[in-house]
Amino acid sequence: MQPIPHDHLLRWLVPSHSRPGEHHLVDLGKLPDGQCSCEDWTCRKRRCRHILAVREHVLNLIITRLRTDPNPTNYDG
Ligand SMILES: [Zn+2]
Repeated sequence: MQPIPHDHLLRWLVPSHSRPGEHHLVDLGKLPDGQCSCEDWTCRKRRCRHILAVREHVLNLIITRLRTDPNPTNYDG
């Protein structure tokens, strides 16, 4: 379940597990914990696996970046 960058670093597409070929849009910019287009989130308003996957992915990006540059001025690379 590898997140795909969308139009913003806080917005990602995550391949659907139950519907191959489809994607869910995760927007981490929405408070408090992010928003997803899947049924888990839209119906139950709970933090779904897609949001967790994107949070983990973004965290790994930041950690990788911080390992090479402890004082980055941006995260677009
Ligand atoms: Zn979701």
